[in-house]
Amino acid sequence: MTKAIEMRIDQLRAEVKDGARDVPGTYQMTSPEGEVIYVGKSKALRTRLLSYFRASYPRDKGARILREAATLTWTPEPSEFAALLQELRLIKRLRPRYNVMMKRDARYHAFVRITGGHTPMLQVVRGAGTDETGTYYGPFRGVYQLAEAIRELNDLLGLRDCKPTLPMFYADQPELLPLPSRTPGCIRHEIGKCLGPCVAAVHQTEYLAAFGVARDFLEGHADAPHGPLLAQMTAASEALDYERAALLRDKVARVDSLQAQLSRLRFALESLSFVYAIPADEPAKARSYVVRRGRVRHEAPTPRTAAERRAFAEAIEAILAPADPAPATVPGHEVDEVLLVAAWFKRHPKELERTTPLRG
Ligand code: SF4
Repeated sequence: MTKAIEMRIDQLRAEVKDGARDVPGTYQMTSPEGEVIYVGKSKALRTRLLSYFRASYPRDKGARILREAATLTWTPEPSEFAALLQELRLIKRLRPRYNVMMKRDARYHAFVRITGGHTPMLQVVRGAGTDETGTYYGPFRGVYQLAEAIRELNDLLGLRDCKPTLPMFYADQPELLPLPSRTPGCIRHEIGKCLGPCVAAVHQTEYLAAFGVARDFLEGHADAPHGPLLAQMTAASEALDYERAALLRDKVARVDSLQAQLSRLRFALESLSFVYAIPADEPAKARSYVVRRGRVRHEAPTPRTAAERRAFAEAIEAILAPADPAPATVPGHEVDEVLLVAAWFKRHPKELERTTPLRG
């Protein structure tokens, strides 16, 4: 370590010893060029920050970040939950290169993502990552089972499941230039499992209608679209082809299990709707959060006067007022927040005692 780095680290250590207290909060490390390279949070800032100076270089990631840091700043927050939320918001805004977005929780959860574009598709992804476009359903546990169930759904409805960047052409799409003859991007169209928008084998209205069935199913507006599977299963049994009938039965079971998971999910998301009041040593620092379907929609000091209570109630009414046409969905940019809120109450179930159901 060069003398200059050593002196800089000594200086940062002295600043932490002088100023940081063991309270919840967030901290940021910034490079000499002014780039925020790391954002963290802790329920005991001083202890956490001092631990960086004991870490051994180069084995420890913290020690490596510290060597690059020119400044280390911290901001106390009223609670650990507030610190977690603020950390998430800072990471999303600043995208520091040493932070891996929500690595802890996203690892265990999967989402079904509806892509945009004129030939939408369903994808199974882990968290939103850095792509926050599209609409998400989740979180689900069990990435493998979810991927299998979505594969069945795609096959049943003939939806594409290829690379989103693959060019698609509808049969009724006007073309400005004659196109070279097309070959399907995979065998699914040939074996009857995809309507074939990659080879203009389907009209746009037909593809979007099939996609609408999938969306309605994910939303809970329609039952599993496995009628054709059931018919094939009956036919296979009648033809004494029990092997095929068993195969089809497993497919039906996978789609049914997805349906059951979706309805549990809608219930779980709905149950993450409440006012969460976190007390503080000083009453003025107590904060209340309005959480709806796992997302913090409003936060304010816990109301103490009649006027404050009225303003808080009005904020809740404004949140509840608009009818939600797709209550099971999570917008891409809010996926990480849903994971954070769900993980927080899973790790701290007693905190649910501080919540009260949302009422307009
Ligand atoms: S057949 Fe074409 S559109 Fe369908 S999944 Fe394969 S590449 Fe995609």
